Amino acid sequence: MSGTTRRELIKLSGATLAALSASGTALHSSQLPGQPSSETPGPVSKTPSSVMAIAAHPGDTFFAMGAPVALATHQGGTGFLLSLTLGERGSSTIPPAQYGVMQRDASNKAAAMIGATALFLAYRDGELPINDEASLAVCDLLRRYKPTTVVTHWKGSWHKDHRACYEIVQNAIFYAGLAALAREHSAHEVRQIAFADNWEDADGFVADTYLDISPIFEQYSSACSTFPMWRGETGFRYNDYYSSRAVECGCLSHCRYAVSLMSPAGQRVRKLQAL
Ligand SMILES: [Zn+2]
Repeated sequence: MSGTTRRELIKLSGATLAALSASGTALHSSQLPGQPSSETPGPVSKTPSSVMAIAAHPGDTFFAMGAPVALATHQGGTGFLLSLTLGERGSSTIPPAQYGVMQRDASNKAAAMIGATALFLAYRDGELPINDEASLAVCDLLRRYKPTTVVTHWKGSWHKDHRACYEIVQNAIFYAGLAALAREHSAHEVRQIAFADNWEDADGFVADTYLDISPIFEQYSSACSTFPMWRGETGFRYNDYYSSRAVECGCLSHCRYAVSLMSPAGQRVRKLQAL
């Protein structure tokens, strides 16, 4: 990527992210029922954002997606970290039942450290199914907690659970916004989707947004350190990778620390009156 192109990438402050996630219930004129908004963002709003990270495993929710959630709560918004499995098969030395408990405990502790709420579904690690049951389970949580922004996996992943999560979340957002679909809670429109920069989901990932996470970087790192795998105990040096990525993205977007995100194609559409 050229330097010019990098400079043209969208750089978001927390306030701008809040603007992108300002609440609203009316459908846009060209929007179909259940379809996420494709409107170009309007002026910056002071409405606090509500961000939900949705990942296959607890490590993904915190390491790759936790910083935008921490920023939202830091700015007075709300944050949720939903893991579709406990990642209980992630250790080669600790039995899955025991490791799952450790992952759940670490998630709850880490979420409290960033002022957010950890949520879980009970699918088995490595066997996350792509079906309506899973999508409706996520739909119900979207309708209950009403995040305006969802951060989740990009589909270009070697990990089958990550690819499954991508599909589940797309369908869940569709179902959540479908007013005619009767569930326990009324319909909720997710205003913005962001795909996380995850070392395991790098196939075709092209960053188009940088989010300045300088105010919460230390808090985010401390929360991540509640997971043994953050320190490299399962083989990959998560701490080194995500910390150095935050520095690299900060350099590219002219701030101390940043995360890069990728928008769905519909959100990259701009409507202009003149060039
Ligand atoms: Zn994972």
